[in-house]
Amino acid sequence: MYSEFNPYPKSKQLAGHQKEKNRPKFKVQKPKKPKKKLEVYKGRSVPDKKTRGKISKSDYELAIELHGYECWVCGISQGLECHHVVPKGYSKARNGRGVVYNLRFLCTEHHRGKTGVHQNRELMQKLQDEHERLYGEHFYKDAWDLFKENLIPTPTKECYEKFMKSQEGR
Ligand SMILES: [Zn+2]
Ligand SMILES: [Zn+2]
Repeated sequence: MYSEFNPYPKSKQLAGHQKEKNRPKFKVQKPKKPKKKLEVYKGRSVPDKKTRGKISKSDYELAIELHGYECWVCGISQGLECHHVVPKGYSKARNGRGVVYNLRFLCTEHHRGKTGVHQNRELMQKLQDEHERLYGEHFYKDAWDLFKENLIPTPTKECYEKFMKSQEGR
């Protein structure tokens, strides 16, 4: 009697694959990314880096009052851009915020052009040194930075301003 060598019938071998093929296609929904948890410090939620880097209208206007609406390098008053003296995410230790003492106007060329601060580390440093001399070593920080460094008791505008005033010209 002829018997086929068939340890596992073909019908059964295919069954599994067939099943796979006929399975209705649907995208597996990736679990939604959980919203980034805000850092909590002493029971207060600290705003994220992006928010703290933003320049508010009032800080922008204060910066005009403080430095004049002119390029720090060449003095022109057209097509100016508002530069973070210590840029946002400058280094691990230094995160420039969108605060008035960390802002300075630059023309397009002296901002992002070939001779601008973003292409010239020395020039960037020179501007940072000037702001440090004028407003103290904390010039690029916001109320939250000062609060976390225990330099002010609460992260309010009042405490921030009072502290920054005490630092001027030191
Ligand atoms: Zn310029
Ligand atoms: Zn800039």
